[in-house]
Amino acid sequence: MNPIRQLDPVVIDQIAAGEVVERPASVVKELVENALDSGARRIEVLLEEGGIRRIEVRDDGCGIPPEELPLALSSHATSKLRRSEDLEAVGTLGFRGEALASIAAVSRLELLSRPAGADHAYAVRVRYGRREDARQAAGAAGTRVIVEDLFLELPARRKFLKRPSTELAHCSAWVERLALAHEGVGFRLEHGGRKLLEIAPEDDLAARCGAVLGPGLARQMVEIEQSGEGIRLEVRVGPPESARRDASRIHLFLNGRWVRDPRLLRAVREGVREFVPVGHSPALVLMLALPPDRVDVNVHPQKTEVRFRDERLVMGTIIRSLRRGLAASPWATRSLGGIGGGAGAAEAEAGTGGTSGELPPFRPASDGWQRPAGYGAAPASTVAEDVRGAPDPAPAGELPLEADPAAAGGNFLSVARTFLIREVPGGLEILDQHALHERVNLEELRAEVRDGQVVSQPLLVPALVDVDRAELDLLLGKAELFRGLGVEVEGFGETTVALRSVPARLSRLQPEALVRDLLDIAREHRRASPEQLQEEALHRMSCRGAVMAGDYVDEQALQDLLRRGAALPQDRTCAHGRPVRVFVSIEDLERAFYRR
Ligand code: ADP
Ligand code: MG
Repeated sequence: MNPIRQLDPVVIDQIAAGEVVERPASVVKELVENALDSGARRIEVLLEEGGIRRIEVRDDGCGIPPEELPLALSSHATSKLRRSEDLEAVGTLGFRGEALASIAAVSRLELLSRPAGADHAYAVRVRYGRREDARQAAGAAGTRVIVEDLFLELPARRKFLKRPSTELAHCSAWVERLALAHEGVGFRLEHGGRKLLEIAPEDDLAARCGAVLGPGLARQMVEIEQSGEGIRLEVRVGPPESARRDASRIHLFLNGRWVRDPRLLRAVREGVREFVPVGHSPALVLMLALPPDRVDVNVHPQKTEVRFRDERLVMGTIIRSLRRGLAASPWATRSLGGIGGGAGAAEAEAGTGGTSGELPPFRPASDGWQRPAGYGAAPASTVAEDVRGAPDPAPAGELPLEADPAAAGGNFLSVARTFLIREVPGGLEILDQHALHERVNLEELRAEVRDGQVVSQPLLVPALVDVDRAELDLLLGKAELFRGLGVEVEGFGETTVALRSVPARLSRLQPEALVRDLLDIAREHRRASPEQLQEEALHRMSCRGAVMAGDYVDEQALQDLLRRGAALPQDRTCAHGRPVRVFVSIEDLERAFYRR
């Protein structure tokens, strides 16, 4: 073995760079964050070959005095943190003082800066860790950093870089994230001289969402805002059809910092889950602001994971705000004016159908999920008017309808013992009997639980279900919680559970299946809060207690189901996020028959 030797500082920086600089996008992120920390109002990012060849970031921020230039490039040198106490409340994006040193160790870097009021700019160059002397240069107030040929002298790292188009996608993702989060700052991104993104300093969050996510999607996004207990939350959520199987369209920010924290992500998914298909996440931008001393961002070198001092409070606030906000959204039926009436019906009655015409109705799409029709093409009228016998507002340009509003509520066709089809003003509606029943169960039971008035129905003969000893313990440990849902379980011997009562409205529940479900839930959610566990159980019972596709249901019962659906706060989707109803407009039919 060789004797032990102290590592050369350049090698130390190159090793450290392994943590901070993974690819061109990491450089873009660090440089733009520095620009933001410098108080810049305009930031420009110019890339060549996906940033592999060249990255330039310019800002009009405070600049760096010439005598500090060498320090800016030294590792563990920062102007943002002095004492270890400062770590308790980090107010800037950077604070580790390693980005510039790390980048300079693995590229050719030029740092050029001119503080406001100074006569000249000064520039320093570093080539793969070897620094040259600072020299006077020409340049505007602010800072310009140019990073060329990343990893060129480090073939082992260079070979992990992907194609320029892939690296470019990562770079622009970072510019977009930072641009979303920093109102008041203008951004411009260019690649090979071509403009990819431009945001003015005065653009608000809606305009930023439009620039980053596309104007069509941004217009449909629902705004949710909430503040209290030191937490400020601002969220924009896209419609169900913006959802993807992964979380790629979820953007989470904590105090202006983009984060990818697994716990935050879980809270968001929990908050939206009734509004999107199972396992999907909608386009969503969430800005969370907390006093800096209530979070720790120094958990992870890339600072994308965080720790909260009062995690439960934060997560609870997110989940509740999302649920409440989405329940009032256009894709929760009420405001669309679905069966139940509500906003849509109220507007129709007031003769202002025009505004509800703004809300996108849903129509079937070939991919099995629904998609909103174009704005303005929507019929303003809804099933609500049928049920209530309110007049059809017949918006301008709409074909006159022959349907008798009073009769329409009662006329439906059951197809394959699964779908209910009926005429509604402006087209026809197809409902899924299972999805509707499940949603009705969930909403009604949830309301009862909330008011502490679950009607529980004792079984004439308690149902006995065999379990093992551990399962019995697990179940009895949660017995109190399940009692709140109208389900009473007791031990009966050492390996038998006696089910004594079930919620009255879920008479279809099979005792054996119910006990197994509750056991699964208790097992899968060992560490969940009591509310979360109840919510899980409510969902499962609502589904199990619902009629299935293919079940025969007599007309009277179907009428009853439709009526109960009409009273719901939200019945756009079933508890799993699948649609309850799909609307087919007259225009869709006309198109299908080549009448248009
Ligand atoms: P950190 O951002 O963690 O402090 P960096 O290595 O990214 O570490 O930057 C080191 C220092 O260089 C910063 O603390 C700051 O004083 C200075 N600096 C870097 N970029 C800029 C910039 N664009 N404008 C003004 N000062 C900058
Ligand atoms: Mg920095």
